[in-house]
Amino acid sequence: MKAENVRKILIFDQGDPVAIQLLAKAEEVFGDGPEYVVLRARGTHNLALTMMEENIRGEEPELVLIGATALGEEIAPALGVRFETGVAAHCVDIRVNEEGRLAYVIPAFGGRAVGEIFIPDAAAGRPAIATVKPGMFPEPADAGNCDDYAGQRCRIIDVDAMAADGEISHGSKAQGAFRMVEVSPREHPAGNIADADIIVCGGYGLGSEEVWRKLEKLAEKLGGAAACTRAALDAGWGCAEESMIGTSGRAVRPKVYIGFGISGAAHHTCGIAGADTIISINSDGDAEIFAASDYKGVFDAEKVIDALLREIG
Ligand SMILES: Cc1cc2nc3c(=O)[nH]c(=O)nc-3n(C[C@H](O)[C@H](O)[C@H](O)COP(=O)(O)OP(=O)(O)OC[C@H]3O[C@@H](n4cnc5c(N)ncnc54)[C@H](O)[C@@H]3O)c2cc1C
Repeated sequence: MKAENVRKILIFDQGDPVAIQLLAKAEEVFGDGPEYVVLRARGTHNLALTMMEENIRGEEPELVLIGATALGEEIAPALGVRFETGVAAHCVDIRVNEEGRLAYVIPAFGGRAVGEIFIPDAAAGRPAIATVKPGMFPEPADAGNCDDYAGQRCRIIDVDAMAADGEISHGSKAQGAFRMVEVSPREHPAGNIADADIIVCGGYGLGSEEVWRKLEKLAEKLGGAAACTRAALDAGWGCAEESMIGTSGRAVRPKVYIGFGISGAAHHTCGIAGADTIISINSDGDAEIFAASDYKGVFDAEKVIDALLREIG
């Protein structure tokens, strides 16, 4: 699809800051050409999916942007099936290429390359759908959420308010078989990576649960949060799923990121591109992570962690 053919963009807002990040990114790519519509639905899967489907049919956007949260990741492919259209999942960038085509940038080949994918047949009524992890794009300086742009730079369809006003009845197909009883965020002992200034991240090169525990201790002593790569998570040393950084984890923007034993696959480094300073420790002097780092140390991860713990006391 040519970017110039995008006349309306629908953004899904589920209360996570990712909606304003998507709106700001869309404005950066498309300027004030298209109309921006934000659909707000914080409720259940059924409510969000049904209201998104109805409004895509009614509004006929050419592009739908969805935050890749748990709910967003559920509804995006379902919408893709219902509209028989393409879904570009976990984009790390959205841009217009030199031919004026809309390109979705996604890591490929096990993270060794970053490629552009296209959804050529997308059009009004059969929109391109793209999902983006929270934090991948920065929030604008002048807005905390989409309300700050409402009426001027975007139109908000507030499904939650409509449900509260009885415009969407309980028991309708939109409410479906699921009902939100309670939302209880899980606390992670080693801190929340979403807003940490210092992130200490462990990769598979840590080698054992014992070293992972030392890394968690280091993160705590530095007043930061411990994070992990997909390989470290899968090793089962005790890293939490919500502490994984990357295209299928979270994108982070700390002041300092210190990575230990991480190879530097694009699936991971896309998630740290917003860090102010990146420091990497790897025993392999040719590790790819060094290309994305401000400072590098060719050392054994455990030895450096031990030395830092001794130093900090
Ligand atoms: C669709 C898809 C989505 C993905 N999403 C994510 C994602 O969100 N996040 C993510 O992280 N990955 C993701 N991955 C996986 C990603 O491609 C890489 O496989 C993963 O990031 C590698 O993790 P790693 O660097 O910890 O491990 P490895 O690639 O195994 O690297 C380990 C590194 O440790 C170094 N090392 C070894 N021993 C030591 C030592 N003693 N001291 C210091 N260094 C040492 C090695 O030199 C090596 O560079 C995804 C993959 C796919 C296919």
